[in-house]
Amino acid sequence: MKLLQDQNVIITGGSRGIGRGIATTFAKHGANVAFTYNSSTQAAEELVKELEGFGVKAKAYQSDAADFDKAQELAKLVLEDFGQIDALVNNAGITKDNLLMRMSEEDFDKVIKVNLNSVFNLTKAVLRPMLKQRKGSIINMSSVVGIKGNAGQSNYSASKAGIIGFSKSVALELGSRNIRSNVIAPGFIETEMTEKLDENTVQGWRDSIPLKRGGTPEDIANACVFLASDMSAYITGQTLSVDGGMLT
Ligand code: NAP
Repeated sequence: MKLLQDQNVIITGGSRGIGRGIATTFAKHGANVAFTYNSSTQAAEELVKELEGFGVKAKAYQSDAADFDKAQELAKLVLEDFGQIDALVNNAGITKDNLLMRMSEEDFDKVIKVNLNSVFNLTKAVLRPMLKQRKGSIINMSSVVGIKGNAGQSNYSASKAGIIGFSKSVALELGSRNIRSNVIAPGFIETEMTEKLDENTVQGWRDSIPLKRGGTPEDIANACVFLASDMSAYITGQTLSVDGGMLT
């Protein structure tokens, strides 16, 4: 069953990793996909072709999620190109890890801007069309680290915890307009990025997870499909951990 047939979605940071997994899984479920990237132009172009292979409309937009004006422009362009925005997945994110003692103000601010301001920027940008439609699903990508913290990631965990507070407030403000706002908190997800890590370290992480494996982008994407679709029509303001039981 195609759960997102003819739905139009925006996914930020779709060119790689989890965002790419969300884009392909959404397309398999019949959604038309508008996705953004920062600098991976070639990967973005390849993904557009792959998505079109599923018989959906797909378009890539170079757009810095941290830039407020660019986010407003993006929503305008997507509306012109697709006609309606049914779901938004705020997935773009970066890390700049360091112990607090060594963390610069610049690295703190950068991570907050790309991870948290971006969620504000684009949620605000899609608000008007969603209010008009009286329908919308906003899905924000937090992290296990936003719930429990992590040494060496005070900037990242602050941004990811901020996303949870923001999403709950949006759920309260917009529930009466049938706009839902939920969070996904991934655990350890294996992407090209984690392939570069030392295999013994990664195996140690896998062993400590109750389901005894790292997650895949598809694991996160399937949760996004659920939250974007009417299967979750009565769910808002929630944080869904997709972490193999890590927080249990
Ligand atoms: P990734 O492989 O590094 O991909 C990040 C994506 O975000 C890329 O498409 C990148 O575009 C885009 N991006 C980065 N900065 C951007 C900006 N300023 N404007 C627009 N797009 C930007 O990351 P990932 O592992 O898939 O993570 C995706 C999300 O899940 C992030 O929010 C991350 O915090 C969260 N998460 C990941 C894990 C994990 O284990 N991987 C765990 C918990 C949470 P370019 O390709 O152009 O750079």
